[in-house]
Amino acid sequence: MSKSLNPETIAAGNGIALDESFGAVTPPIYLSSTFVFPGFAQSGPYDYSRTANPSRALLADTIARLEGGAGAVVTSSGMSAVDLLLSTLEPDTLIVAPHDCYGGTYRLLAARRDRGHFSVVFVDQGDDAALEAAFEQYPALVLIETPSNPLMRVVDIAQIAERAKSFGAKTAVDNTFLSPALQRPISLGADFVIHSTTKYLNGHSDVVGGAIVAADAADVETFATWANITGITGAPFDSYLTLRGLRTLFPRMERQQENAERIARFLDAHPQVAAVHYPGLPSHPGHAIAGRQQAGFGAMLSFELDGGVGAVRRFVESLSVFTLAESLGGIESLVAHPATMTHVGMGETARAAAGITDRLLRLSIGLEAADDLLADLEQAFDVARERVAAL
Ligand SMILES: *Cc1c(COP(=O)(O)O)cnc(C)c1O
Repeated sequence: MSKSLNPETIAAGNGIALDESFGAVTPPIYLSSTFVFPGFAQSGPYDYSRTANPSRALLADTIARLEGGAGAVVTSSGMSAVDLLLSTLEPDTLIVAPHDCYGGTYRLLAARRDRGHFSVVFVDQGDDAALEAAFEQYPALVLIETPSNPLMRVVDIAQIAERAKSFGAKTAVDNTFLSPALQRPISLGADFVIHSTTKYLNGHSDVVGGAIVAADAADVETFATWANITGITGAPFDSYLTLRGLRTLFPRMERQQENAERIARFLDAHPQVAAVHYPGLPSHPGHAIAGRQQAGFGAMLSFELDGGVGAVRRFVESLSVFTLAESLGGIESLVAHPATMTHVGMGETARAAAGITDRLLRLSIGLEAADDLLADLEQAFDVARERVAAL
């Protein structure tokens, strides 16, 4: 497909009607682990599926084009995509990471730091002075997550990437929460984009996978080499499913975001809600930056429920359209309680420092009818309030 196509067309159509064997409209899955050598000492485009596989290559190409990168490597999970990036660092380098980064990323950075693989400073990237102090230690890599999990903090990618560059550091953005449908970090100056494709890119909560995109072709080569060395490339079947999900990324995102905006406004006006964290609300501290650097405000939000942990428990237990589960970005709406689920490993002190309270709930908004989602939340508020009143 030509380069000038719109991203919606790339997502829906990359690889369609290109099959040279039988004219299949939908690209076939190549599950084969190994490929024929055309002759003695001659290799074809593929030899072994750990190294390269046509189904995985098509997914990588689609993600890279959507992100505006030179290429991508598809990995077995979001965490292995982060680890692939870390594999390419020289020893003794410094990484600057967000103080409120994804728990698995925090754990990976801390574990490798403790093994002496590199140093890490965790900083509040919304705090210019703290960020500047970190830059003055000449990091090799700056990791950004925006919006952050679960408080939806937003940082300015272009500004941080520019500062990083002036100190000789590369910038990587974990774009899992928005997807390239709503945010394209390379166009804002980032060098690398990381995805947990488990979330919005696949979008159906039936694959665990990841990807790393690089702006520069030489970096893509380095990542591909290291992915082959360590064997963390994604499986062909998972790649097929993820590409199948990715075909509908844009309409899913549009509809899920529409639902999320309605729910955010409903929660914002609700007397039993102490705070709503959604960048689409004008009261959100990152609203202006998000409006500038994002094509939409996304379908993730969190909020604080009035009434203590008992009310939170009853609220969650009385929901029926929302499902109590970790993860996000699927077609189904999920509710998570970070303090007892996604962020339990952080410990109470670190959670308090990050601003994650026991009454915080995170919502991943799906494709259901907004009226059903709102009715489900409303009845759960009623249950929470009745029990509070009865105490
Ligand atoms: C889920 C997630 C990851 C990790 O991805 P896995 O596919 O679960 O390994 C990394 N970053 C963010 C922001 C995530 O939400």
